[in-house]
Amino acid sequence: MSDDVVVSRTVAELRARLASDRDAGRTIGLVPTMGALHAGHASLVSRATATCDTVVTSIFVNPRQFGPSEDLDAYPRTLDEDVAVLADLGCRHVWSPSAEEMYPDGYSTRVEMDGLTDVLCGRSRPTHFGGVLTVVLKLFNQVRPDVAFFGQKDYQQSLVIRRMVRDLDLPLRIEVCPIVRESDGVAMSSRNRYLTAEERAQAPALNAALAAIDEAWRGGEQDPARLSAIGHAVIAEKPLVSVDYLEIRDSETLAVRERTVQAGDLVAVAALIGQARLIDNRLLGA
Ligand code: AMP
Repeated sequence: MSDDVVVSRTVAELRARLASDRDAGRTIGLVPTMGALHAGHASLVSRATATCDTVVTSIFVNPRQFGPSEDLDAYPRTLDEDVAVLADLGCRHVWSPSAEEMYPDGYSTRVEMDGLTDVLCGRSRPTHFGGVLTVVLKLFNQVRPDVAFFGQKDYQQSLVIRRMVRDLDLPLRIEVCPIVRESDGVAMSSRNRYLTAEERAQAPALNAALAAIDEAWRGGEQDPARLSAIGHAVIAEKPLVSVDYLEIRDSETLAVRERTVQAGDLVAVAALIGQARLIDNRLLGA
């Protein structure tokens, strides 16, 4: 492991290491991740190091945001490689607690949210966002950042976190960073490594569907059902890709667009390809 990066394993260690920075009035940025870092994560860390004095990247595969039949055990864990990536990016603090440190014996508190968490990914993964909000609130309390950085890749996640910050008057700012893609348009994801070569070759269909919808909308099509059919037709050409949802919604409230699609609306897709459940999104006209 690199000498430049300090990995904290307990809340006490983390707090002790951040105390002098905080006392000196340095701004603290937090980048929450589940590790297996790629260029998407790196873009968040780079944004954080460019705008904050001290940056903490958390690496924690949070059991509470995985459903019972999901990929918790298979999820890649690559801490040594991740630390090397973070050293190169100039991030000096890694916060990597064990599950027991995060949720000790007797742990019994959960964060829940109505509405925004019931649709899109929340419909297929009913306990997911409660798990995300719970761990993110804990991370905020452990690190006490001035700014926390999230990716638009997980659009609904960034929205529910912004809502929690607003609803609970949390004293920090949330910054949402753009989606980083592979050269063929596939959104970078730690789960892409589950794909076989044949499945990987069909993965660009998600972004292609979003692009086709955006193009049709720019061409004057405003009917949500027709736009969504255009996206479904693109994905239907790829037999290994099975759509979970492909929807157009208001980007702030996530209300379904019944009649007329507008600039800035969210087009969000989730699909199963082999062992991977992949998501992608685009804001129309962005
Ligand atoms: P994860 O490790 O998948 O929980 O992601 C940690 C953070 O990185 C989340 O805020 C994600 O939205 C963000 N992220 C993941 N993939 C990308 C990507 N391709 N582009 C930008 N941000 C991403």
